[in-house]
Amino acid sequence: MENKFLSTPIEYLKGVGPQKAELIKAEINVFTYFDLIHYFPNRYVDKSKISNIADINDDTTNVQLRGKLFDITIAGTKQGKRLIAVLEDKTGNIELTWFKNFQYVAKTLKEGAFYTVFGKINDFKGKISIVHPEIKLYSIEDNESGLNMEPVYPLTEKLKARFMDSKFFMNAIKQILVHSEFDLSEYIPESVSKPLKLIPRKHAYYFIHLPKKVNEQLTAERRIKFDEMFTLAMRNEKNKITRLQEQKGIKMLKVGDNFNTFYKECLSFELTNAQKKVIKEIKADISNGNQMNRLLQGDVGSGKTVVALLCMLMAIDNGYQTCLMAPTEILATQHYFTIKDMLGNLPINIKLLTGSTTKKNRQAILEQLNTNEINILIGTHALIEDDVTFSKLGFVVIDEQHRFGVAQRSRLWNKSSILPHVLVMTATPIPRTLAMTVHGELDVSVINELPKDRKPIKTLYRDESFRADIMAFVDNELKKGRQAYIVYPLIEESSKLDLNDLMNGYDVVCSYFPIPKYQISLLHGKMKADVKELEMQRFKAGITQIMISTTVIEVGVNVPNASVMVIENANRFGLSQLHQLRGRVGRGAEQSFCILMSKENLNYTSKKRINTMCKTNNGFEISEVDLELRGPGDLLGTRQSGLPDFKLLDLVKDDEIIDLAKRAANFILKNDPALALIENKILLEYLQKHQQDNFWGRVS
Ligand code: ADP
Ligand code: MG
Repeated sequence: MENKFLSTPIEYLKGVGPQKAELIKAEINVFTYFDLIHYFPNRYVDKSKISNIADINDDTTNVQLRGKLFDITIAGTKQGKRLIAVLEDKTGNIELTWFKNFQYVAKTLKEGAFYTVFGKINDFKGKISIVHPEIKLYSIEDNESGLNMEPVYPLTEKLKARFMDSKFFMNAIKQILVHSEFDLSEYIPESVSKPLKLIPRKHAYYFIHLPKKVNEQLTAERRIKFDEMFTLAMRNEKNKITRLQEQKGIKMLKVGDNFNTFYKECLSFELTNAQKKVIKEIKADISNGNQMNRLLQGDVGSGKTVVALLCMLMAIDNGYQTCLMAPTEILATQHYFTIKDMLGNLPINIKLLTGSTTKKNRQAILEQLNTNEINILIGTHALIEDDVTFSKLGFVVIDEQHRFGVAQRSRLWNKSSILPHVLVMTATPIPRTLAMTVHGELDVSVINELPKDRKPIKTLYRDESFRADIMAFVDNELKKGRQAYIVYPLIEESSKLDLNDLMNGYDVVCSYFPIPKYQISLLHGKMKADVKELEMQRFKAGITQIMISTTVIEVGVNVPNASVMVIENANRFGLSQLHQLRGRVGRGAEQSFCILMSKENLNYTSKKRINTMCKTNNGFEISEVDLELRGPGDLLGTRQSGLPDFKLLDLVKDDEIIDLAKRAANFILKNDPALALIENKILLEYLQKHQQDNFWGRVS
């Protein structure tokens, strides 16, 4: 903790006391002065200015005025009885009105005295007034001390019931901030704080709670947000530098026959510029002697697989083995067949290892891995089991990484005595800001362009009353020789209710598309792997025209002839899931469609999700909305993401500050990786004090 004073329990504050302190602890987890100054306002009421009465216009909502009060009268009768007074400044006058408690208020008001008044402008048929204003006697002695940005704290019902409101918290916090023992030492070196114009920490905490002007609040906020990010940025940058310095990687210098032949003879299309750029980035990474640790972000259908394959071929040409890990059996199997198919006659030994691989096959694969006969091993989690070891694993590809934890990723690295290069691919692009914080120590490549022949998918929303129209539309597509997906949410694969939904849906679809005129596939997670595989193959081969399924088709499934997807109960899916699902169509040259269906009434977030889907095909835009709606913890689907609990920093909006903190950390560590220089001593001590795992070494 910072200094001793700040570890004082809050009951020592005037106006708090043991009983209130007890409730505060229980309600908002605030125990000490230190905790309390970190209990930040969530907004401010701007009382920093006095307005002229004459300047009030249609846009005025809240206003603060100052003037002389006169004509204090009780008007009306019965229900209409009220207190009225007139406030006059040098530019005009306005009526103030009280309906409640007015006998008491009337007694406290002084005719002819000066008051500061704050409230909401009420416009009744063109006559403006302020109803129940906050009103304070004004004396020349207080001068301008009453003018400030009034903090509004996040409160709970229980706190409010015990009269602990924003004013209460402001007063309590103020006692700490003005106390002579209050201090927060500066730990950011001047070489950073000066050029970035960071205000001192001590001031920042004062101004975040007690700003006089908007500007004070903003500079305070900037400083505290910077601090929230800076510690993490230091860790990320340090990891990166250490990795570059200490973890020497395999140098893959050769561009060999497999790569060249594949490029010239097997590729049936021209790579997009984005694909070429990423391949260059990776080539540079794997030949410079460092270990590559790269995240490849690219929207669904942007062609990540072929990029990964070309890189694997480079590694193979340099004498190394490669592997590709996918999150589901379907995906792994599909990767296996597409890649095998793409490789044609190249002398590459490629094998598939999943949970359903037979014992005998598995044994053979394990042997061939150790004799370096297998060049590419594709599989699921089965790849990271302990007895799967390689003789010369040099390049690891992980597809759809958001489903794997970090722990699993690092396990793959220890599969042989050498340190392989790692390429992590994700089709759920995460916002740049989040990538910088969570994957701070990874390098990030982006494929931000789809192959030229792609047409953006047309997405629309229809409620269930349009079912017949939608089915007619699907029918029309099928008549053109296309195929369709109809997707049902199966939130939990074990849920009976959801499964019923799916089976009912199947019956409904069959009533529109009678067998044998149409053939329909059904796919869900409860089915056996080989049955699933068979259904997939039937659909792929065009034997069935409609695929009814749950989200098991979510990732990576590739059937270019499918041009329409209907998503039932679309409100039950998350944004990134909808985007993933939609990515199953629009893979061929034809115009594709995605129809989102649901019951009529949608709540706010469902509406926002569905509107976003209808508006854009861009995964990065979608992920930003997702981040906004769900917050980073949920978005990453994992608490072990290592993300600190940001109180002020907003991962959607604060990209500038995140960038700043990252560059500052890099600037410091580049010059002084061990933080050994005298000017960084305080920083090192600060980091050591606040670390959880001796990352910065022991406190000396
Ligand atoms: P994703 O990035 O979603 O994994 P894939 O790698 O599965 O995308 O590619 C989607 C489809 O686009 C595949 O059929 C692939 O062969 C094809 N493809 C990849 N790159 C190109 C390209 N440059 N031009 C045309 N088609 C491409
Ligand atoms: Mg893919």
